Amino acid sequence: IKILAIESSCDETAAAVVVNGREVLSNVIASQIDIHTKFGGVVPEVASRKHIEAISAVVQEALDKANVTLEDIDAIGVTYGPGLVGALLVGLQYAKGLSYALNKPLIGVNHIEGHISANFIEYKELEPPFVCLVVSGGHTFIVYMKDYGEFEVLGGTRDDAAGEAFDKVARAIGLGYPGGPKIDRVSKEGNADAIKFPRANFHDNSLDFSFSGVKSAVLNYLNNKEMRNEEIVREDVAASFQKAVVDVLVDNAMEACKKRKVDKIAIAGGVASNSCLRESMIKRGEKEGIRVLFPSMILCTDNAAMIGSAAYFEYKKGNIAPLTLNAIPNLKLGER
Ligand code: ATP
Ligand code: MG
Ligand code: FE
Repeated sequence: IKILAIESSCDETAAAVVVNGREVLSNVIASQIDIHTKFGGVVPEVASRKHIEAISAVVQEALDKANVTLEDIDAIGVTYGPGLVGALLVGLQYAKGLSYALNKPLIGVNHIEGHISANFIEYKELEPPFVCLVVSGGHTFIVYMKDYGEFEVLGGTRDDAAGEAFDKVARAIGLGYPGGPKIDRVSKEGNADAIKFPRANFHDNSLDFSFSGVKSAVLNYLNNKEMRNEEIVREDVAASFQKAVVDVLVDNAMEACKKRKVDKIAIAGGVASNSCLRESMIKRGEKEGIRVLFPSMILCTDNAAMIGSAAYFEYKKGNIAPLTLNAIPNLKLGER
């Protein structure tokens, strides 16, 4: 089964051709980062307009690179939520148009399910059940993936998403947008034990997260230093903040594996490319006898290959979408 997948939920216009959910024939991503950097974050109206400008060429390039034509495609997969409504609609309408014109099935994909599915591309033998730590720009979850497309949410953030915290702290220490990769890089020059930032831990047996506390602690630290005219070592702030976030992610992720008695955990979403998170997860995993999986960098951040993978497993279950499928900006995991 060859699926043409389209993704436009945020600020990357992406298209890919994926075979049987695991083999990527092409994976084209047009990033809008340059434009949004000027504004310090994603501007929704600008994102929609840029998607419209890019989508035809991106889809064509995905077909060309895969060496296929539209006739060779078996189904069209597309992200319909969660994300920015105006951005989602561009990819969705384009996919619906193709589905109608070619008379080929349309498959609606949950963007977060897509992030998780990136692991099926990276690990051809990977099958549920397993635990997945989803850490992206707008979401932070620990899910137990019982079967393909079947999720049980074991914990989530009560305020900011992990990626959001990285982006906000990066802005506060003057690193700019997008913050995650920059904090990652700068932290390598810093001392992660230099500053003691708080780790939120709920004592009610919950696997939830909270990142607003550590974010505020960083902002207070910076303000106090500035008021006293003391030197701020940006590298140390970044490394200490990063470690505080990673510590709770690793603790809860490992706890979730014990709760569900599984010995493998996958990481997904943009923050899954964080080098400190990867190293810490592997180290703890070795100690606890848990295998840690994560997709290669290009499959961690937004792309359409992961959407093509998730679409395949939905297709196999017979989940074909009607042409009335609408964008759902706050689509929940496991909901249709
Ligand atoms: P969502 O998937 O929740 O809808 P999104 O699509 O905007 O949100 P992703 O593309 O999955 O998010 O990930 C982007 C996020 O990942 C940003 O917050 C970015 O700062 C973060 N990120 C990317 N690389 C790294 C890294 N190396 N370290 C930490 N964070 C990173
Ligand atoms: Mg993005
Ligand atoms: Fe994403």
